[in-house]
Amino acid sequence: MDLNFSPEEQAFQAEVQAFLAEALPAEIADRVGRGEEPTRDDMERWHAILNEKGWLAGTWPAEFGGQGWGPIELHIFEEECAKASAPRIVPFGTKMLGPVLQKFGTPEQQAEYLPRILDGRDWWCQGYSEPGAGSDLASLKTKAERDGDVYVVNGQKTWTTLGQYANRIFCLVRTKFEGKPQEGISFLLIDLDTPGIEMRPIRLIEGGYEVNEVFFTDVRVPVENLVGEENMGWTIAKYLLGHERTNIAGTGFSVQALAQVKALARQVKRRGKALIENPLFAARLASVEAELEAVKITNLRMLSKAAAGGQLGAEPSMLKIKGTVIRQELNDLARRALGPAAAPFPSEDLDNLAIAPKGHAQNAAGYFNNRKISIYGGSNEIQRNILAKGMMRG
Ligand SMILES: Cc1cc2nc3c(=O)[nH]c(=O)nc-3n(C[C@H](O)[C@H](O)[C@H](O)COP(=O)(O)OP(=O)(O)OC[C@H]3O[C@@H](n4cnc5c(N)ncnc54)[C@H](O)[C@@H]3O)c2cc1C
Repeated sequence: MDLNFSPEEQAFQAEVQAFLAEALPAEIADRVGRGEEPTRDDMERWHAILNEKGWLAGTWPAEFGGQGWGPIELHIFEEECAKASAPRIVPFGTKMLGPVLQKFGTPEQQAEYLPRILDGRDWWCQGYSEPGAGSDLASLKTKAERDGDVYVVNGQKTWTTLGQYANRIFCLVRTKFEGKPQEGISFLLIDLDTPGIEMRPIRLIEGGYEVNEVFFTDVRVPVENLVGEENMGWTIAKYLLGHERTNIAGTGFSVQALAQVKALARQVKRRGKALIENPLFAARLASVEAELEAVKITNLRMLSKAAAGGQLGAEPSMLKIKGTVIRQELNDLARRALGPAAAPFPSEDLDNLAIAPKGHAQNAAGYFNNRKISIYGGSNEIQRNILAKGMMRG
């Protein structure tokens, strides 16, 4: 197995770096680099720039407007974007619904929705989780009952990320109540302007607003918005989750966060000495850096296997656990370096009060916000179960 990039891959990496140096707006990179969440405008602007280059959905086949990138090109692109502090591409349309429509959608659905994802006319959000259906997603209860040529939807979704910006939601709904729970689920596309839908914000611990609850009361959805066949939504859901979990280790973000923690630890003084010279702090920093190097190599091993057509087993679970733990450890080190400034307040307040070292106020909020990364996309406890089952099967 060769963990080095081929000459073509190196050329692509250089092309991505050159493109980012030229096309990524500096003010957006500054904000993202400081650990701030990109604004809606930042995200839309960056999507438009990438779409113009044809790189917004690089893994989509050319016939649908993509480049047909394989896992290694996608990895290179995402790592370089993270290192350059580009906003993350909003995944719901590009990484989740797009591949689902390409595999399971009708030609009419593909023609209607795929171009609208690319040019930004549609902002999709994901309606999977419910108050009683998270890790055990199959227990979802939001129901869709057939009434002539519409489904009537009633129920509640939760944790709907960036739903406040979305005009459409793809939902898992229950269309059959008897039999195995997995066999009564359907995949439905819903226009958020339809009467009977209410979206309520959920404030996160650091004061940010990125998730919502969505309530459906007698919402009438045309039958042609069903993707695939009725009651086959579980198959589609699993296919989509496979796509959701790409770039799961997020090593590019950790590389960037590591550089930020080092800069902070050089700047902050404890008893007259730079924190980075403190042996205990330096040891933790060295340990997380070594872990990060190990995950980078594991990631490349996995990509090399996938690119050679190999089946991935427990590797994505391992990467999810390690990658998120590393990022949380880096957040923790930044929080410790900040000391009393690491309180859960929005950054502007800290900046205005000049409590935190310049440019680092957002680190505290980032620490609290990133508690989420070991939960979403399948929590780390569940990934550990998957690993354990894989090991026991041998
Ligand atoms: C910030 C954020 C954004 C999200 N965005 C979206 C979104 O856009 N759309 C969407 O549909 N969902 C979204 N989610 C939901 C996310 O996928 C769920 O939170 C996740 O599946 C866990 O479900 P839960 O929160 O209901 O926790 P639960 O399933 O109730 O689990 C609670 C705890 O128990 C553990 N646990 C549960 N079952 C087991 C088991 N069998 N073995 C061992 N441990 C177990 C879990 O790991 C967890 O630690 C988001 C979540 C967060 C936090």
